Amino acid sequence: MPQYSFFCNACRKEFSVVLTLAEYEKGGVKCPHCKSTKVEQKWAAFFAVTSKKS
Ligand SMILES: [Zn+2]
Repeated sequence: MPQYSFFCNACRKEFSVVLTLAEYEKGGVKCPHCKSTKVEQKWAAFFAVTSKKS
């Protein structure tokens, strides 16, 4: 399952959550620290790791 990194604009902390695509598209990601929904997604470096298939 993909892991998503977020940054909370309310408490200015970063966190990462594991979500299914359905959960992700539904939105409603909350900061685990302050429960705010004012979060923005960060695209972390580990996302660049993709396997090459031919
Ligand atoms: Zn927060």
